[in-house]
Amino acid sequence: MKIHADLDKCEGLGMCEAMANDYFEVDEDEELVTVLDDSPPESDRAHVYAAVQACPVLALTLAD
Ligand code: SF4
Repeated sequence: MKIHADLDKCEGLGMCEAMANDYFEVDEDEELVTVLDDSPPESDRAHVYAAVQACPVLALTLAD
């Protein structure tokens, strides 16, 4: 499983960080997300998926 963040779409809204701050961190000055770990273990799939789904501008995708 791989997390991909499209930084051209990200608006730094922070929903992903609110849902999973172990995987996403938002730089408030740059208003961009940093993916802290882009290869989560299978056991975290539901947790990460919820954060990906929470992004209002669809900047996050999860690939198998
Ligand atoms: S929720 Fe989406 S727009 Fe907001 S910081 Fe995360 S990736 Fe960026």
